[in-house]
Amino acid sequence: MTAPRIDILTIFPGWFDGPLTTSLLGRANEDARLDLRVHDLRDYTTDRHRSVDDAPYGGGAGMVMRADVLTAAAEAVWNDLPPEATAGRTDPPAGARFVAGGERPRTILLTPRGRRFDQAMARELAAEDRLVLLCGRYEGIDERVHDLVATDEVSIGDYVLFGGEVAAAVIIEAVTRLRPGIVGNDASPADESFADGLLEYPQYTRPADLRGHGVPEVLSSGDHGAVARWRHDQALALTRSRRPDLLGEPDPPCADGGSG
Ligand code: SAM
Repeated sequence: MTAPRIDILTIFPGWFDGPLTTSLLGRANEDARLDLRVHDLRDYTTDRHRSVDDAPYGGGAGMVMRADVLTAAAEAVWNDLPPEATAGRTDPPAGARFVAGGERPRTILLTPRGRRFDQAMARELAAEDRLVLLCGRYEGIDERVHDLVATDEVSIGDYVLFGGEVAAAVIIEAVTRLRPGIVGNDASPADESFADGLLEYPQYTRPADLRGHGVPEVLSSGDHGAVARWRHDQALALTRSRRPDLLGEPDPPCADGGSG
C-alpha cells in the first residue's frame, strides 16, 4: 500500500517544522508511512519581491492573494513539476494531466467560509490517497482560486485565524490518525470521541486515591462486561449533558432561563 500523500502550499513552510517532525506524525513521515510535502508559495513568483499578494480591485483594506501565483503553484505540485515549469506562465504547462479548472487532485482551500470540519469529514478525507492543502494569508484570496484551483473549501470553525497553517495542521492530524498504521494502537481511533456518535467515557489511572477522590469500583472489578456497560453508560450520560446535539436532542434550557 502506498503512503498517503499530503501537499501543503503556504508562504510559511517553516511553520510546519514542529508539527510535522514531532510525535506520531513525525515518525510516520520519517519512516515513509506518510508522505507530507511542504511547498513555499513564493517559489512560484517571478518578481524581485517574490510577491504572492496584491491590492484588491475595487479598493479596501488589506491585500489579496494572487490567483496567478496560486494557480502556478497548484499546477506544479499536482503534476510533480519544478516551480520553474509553471511560475510566471499564463497557460497550463504542456501535457499536464492536472490543470486549474479541469481534472485535479482533491485540493482543499482553508477558509472561514468553507464547510465546517468535523470527524465525519476527517473520515471522508482519510479515504483519499492524495490531498493538497492550500493555506491562505492576508485579507482574502482571489475568487478565481476558489473557482479553479480548490475542489473543496474547509473551515475549522467559526472564528478567523491569521492564516490557514493552523487549520491545515488540524486537518492533517485528524485525518492521518484515522489511516491504518499511523496511530500505534490501531484500535484506538475506533474507540474514542465521535467514533460512534458519543463522547468518550471517563478514564482513570494510578493512584487509586487522589486527595480523597477515588476510582469507580467497577473498573477494578475484573468484570469486562460490567466495565464495558459502565463505559457505555458514562459516555451516553456525558454526551447528553455536554453535547446533546450529537444525540439529536435539543440543548437544555439555560439555568437562569436565558435572561442573559
Ligand atoms: N478576510 C477573511 C474572511 O473574513 O473570511 C479572513 C482571512 S484570514 C485573516 C487569512 C487566512 O486564514 C484565510 O485565507 C484562511 O486560509 C485562514 N483561515 C482563517 N480562519 C480560518 C478558519 N476558521 N478555518 C480555516 N482557515 C482559516
